[in-house]
Amino acid sequence: MIRVVIFMARGWVRDHYAAKLKELIERGEIWEIRRLMGPTGPRAVVEGREFIMLSTNNYLNLANDPRLKRAAIEAIEKYGWGPGAVWAIAGYPELMAELERKVAEFKRTEAALIFPTGFATNAGSIPAIVDQGDIILSDELNHGSIIDGIRLSRAEKLIYKHCDIADLEDKLRQVHKKYNKILIITDGVFSMDGDIAPLDGITKLADEFNAMVYVDDAHGEGVLGEGHGSPAHYGVEDKVDFHMGTFSKALGSTGGMIGSDRDIIEYIRNRARSWLLSTGFPPAVVAANLKALEIVMTEKDRIRKLWENREYFKRGLDELGFNTGKSQTPIIPAIIGDTKKTRELAKMLYDMGIFVVPIVFPMVPRGTERIRNQVNAGHTKEDLDKALSAYEKAGRSLGII
Ligand SMILES: *Cc1c(COP(=O)(O)O)cnc(C)c1O
Repeated sequence: MIRVVIFMARGWVRDHYAAKLKELIERGEIWEIRRLMGPTGPRAVVEGREFIMLSTNNYLNLANDPRLKRAAIEAIEKYGWGPGAVWAIAGYPELMAELERKVAEFKRTEAALIFPTGFATNAGSIPAIVDQGDIILSDELNHGSIIDGIRLSRAEKLIYKHCDIADLEDKLRQVHKKYNKILIITDGVFSMDGDIAPLDGITKLADEFNAMVYVDDAHGEGVLGEGHGSPAHYGVEDKVDFHMGTFSKALGSTGGMIGSDRDIIEYIRNRARSWLLSTGFPPAVVAANLKALEIVMTEKDRIRKLWENREYFKRGLDELGFNTGKSQTPIIPAIIGDTKKTRELAKMLYDMGIFVVPIVFPMVPRGTERIRNQVNAGHTKEDLDKALSAYEKAGRSLGII
């Protein structure tokens, strides 16, 4: 018999964290992770059962695209698997220089830099571009990686009300001329409500108050502005100084990106700690990302299909009487406003083969608990009808609609 040895933490350490974990469980703040038995797409197989997938950022259905897989396999054959060390020290595959150029083309900037993840892009770039004596104005619903990037920087911060131009203007007036530089940071599309930042107004204020603008377009790329994202949607690409994004959403892959002027990009490359000190993704991912960008820039039909699905599903939920809030994009919440009911609804939908999860405090403010639906270009009308009919059944039986 093989004896397995498990080395335990000190008794008091174990007890301490066991108690903290128990608190999380009691507050219902624990994730139950599903186990996929195949690729993720418009549908996914979990524990032998097929589900309609409404919980991924895979907007353009590229996560399992055969061309991305092929590109990755070819890159493995040519460049092997592992990157060896951080790109700064060990170098990167020649394909990476091509990817940087492609991202610059995609973001319509002079140059671009690729990070291991979107999170690492914000955590590294924000502290690189602001310093002591600067101030950051940040939307109150910005993504956690922006919040952490701000925390890691030496700049001061001021939070403005969500998408509130008047409040942003007030705050700009307060800080104007008191700091060396002002940086306004916003998500392009907000991930919980699916609303779009008012970049027209924000960039106008930035001109007026000499501020810099940083847009994290994780959920806008591939979706808005013919795929080029939220600055293109408003036609203000030339008024955004830092164009941040990720390969992990519409592009169906993984990795972060930031586009800007050549000197700015080279400065960030040499200052961002998450670029200098964290190993990048394998060459296979470089190749797949390159392919994903090519597809997004040429296959506009995917984007049209995504929007068709989005309109269809949102109208369906609205007509059933669900509250879809401020959704303007393929992120379509069904806002329930009660933790217990949201959980019950999610469970009923899941039991009916709809892959959704409850989104509750602390991910969203109390009273706005919801199920977040994300449609993708690969959903058929039949998929969406099936999901809507499950919503109808569950919503009625729980007295939500
Ligand atoms: C998902 C997301 C990120 C993080 O990107 P990853 O590539 O998943 O690390 C950053 N910002 C926003 C707004 C996001 O939605």
